[in-house]
Amino acid sequence: MALSPLLTTYDHVLLDLDGCVWVGDHSTRRAPEAVAQLRSAQKQIAFITNDCRRTGEEYVRKLWSLGIRASLAEVVTVGGAIQHVLADRRPQGGTAYVIGSEAVFRHVGDAGMRIVNGTDLASHADVVVVAGHDDLHFRELRDAVQAILAGAQMLGAGRDRTFPMPDGPWPATGAIVAALEYATSRTADIVGKPDPQLFLTALDRLGPGRALAVGDRLDADLAGAAAAGLDAAIVLTGVTSRAEAEAAQEPAPVAIAEDLAALVLAG
Ligand SMILES: [Mg+2]
Repeated sequence: MALSPLLTTYDHVLLDLDGCVWVGDHSTRRAPEAVAQLRSAQKQIAFITNDCRRTGEEYVRKLWSLGIRASLAEVVTVGGAIQHVLADRRPQGGTAYVIGSEAVFRHVGDAGMRIVNGTDLASHADVVVVAGHDDLHFRELRDAVQAILAGAQMLGAGRDRTFPMPDGPWPATGAIVAALEYATSRTADIVGKPDPQLFLTALDRLGPGRALAVGDRLDADLAGAAAAGLDAAIVLTGVTSRAEAEAAQEPAPVAIAEDLAALVLAG
């Protein structure tokens, strides 16, 4: 097995996870083989995800469990980026109301913020962090709306409307951000794709070279890569159809493939 001609022209490959490397708890067809082939061709790899339901360590474990070799330094999560942004913009700390998984709570706490969920300060937090998670409750939307209307900054982990799961699309962070924006008439600051920061963090770790981003979303992956000045390829194992991918212009993807293996492997 060899590398496809397209991939030989790049030094680095930045892989989206949901809908590209895996769907739910299963890798996409021959994804482990595709990643192994990239490694044997000496390509540098980063895994970049807007999914914030897990920590970087948990993503590494999941990749290994699917037969894909990965290291923590290769995983760039939006949770890590949120932590970086909070620590950077609020060196004195402050209070945060968090909508998100345990992993997001940990990242916000590690940024030096005091988390005020469940306290009297909830509706007066300095920042509301918004990240999709599976146990969303009306109470979270209510507290967040009140805090934002009282002046809290809204920091979102992305605008993805959905993410692919085996039984169909599930609502993602963007759907929750949209609910809060609608309720408050305020606009969230977005840290995840299509903001270029996740790609730039990955490039910073990988060093100089020509990079290709691969993902399943036009709005997050293709637009985010373009914002970072990178080429992008779209795979059809997630939320985008071939017709939608072919209709994308400015930027247009450099390639459209049935799946990651079809993009990466020759023949
Ligand atoms: Mg994806």
